[in-house]
Amino acid sequence: MATFPLPFKPTLSYRQGGRRFGANRDGGDRKHAGCDLIAPKGTEIYAVESGVVATKPYLFYRGTYAIEFQLDSGKLVRYCEIEKLAPGIKKGSPVTEGNLIAYVGKMYVSSMLHFELYEGSASGPLTVRSNPPYQRRSDLIDPADYLDSCMLLGASSYPRGCAFGP
Ligand SMILES: [Zn+2]
Repeated sequence: MATFPLPFKPTLSYRQGGRRFGANRDGGDRKHAGCDLIAPKGTEIYAVESGVVATKPYLFYRGTYAIEFQLDSGKLVRYCEIEKLAPGIKKGSPVTEGNLIAYVGKMYVSSMLHFELYEGSASGPLTVRSNPPYQRRSDLIDPADYLDSCMLLGASSYPRGCAFGP
């Protein structure tokens, strides 16, 4: 059983609208490669399982960052649209399920965790512009069922896990 990456389940479903995996992007030229978990800037992001932080934060989209997180189970998660890593977390850090690893970032107006999940059966960069419709590595999977199966970390009275207020 994995731990949900945020302290609460978002009010707006990650299975609906533009937030869902497979939603159209760029007028249909591309499909959404993850689930968007809407949350205030600064919301805590947790390790869904035990594993190792596999990358430094790198620029992802409109001033937000991404990190890749290699799970001991073999799967790989990319946490995107984050602001920064939590204190003491860096590339190579071993983390235990439920550990605080990063915070939600903010673009021009919205803030969310864009969550991507990979089976771990392929190698190389996760973003592959030449691989339609998701423009991602071939082992990308829909994370919705995985997220549904996650348990919330302890008591999660929103916005308790938000470092900067809603
Ligand atoms: Zn997204």
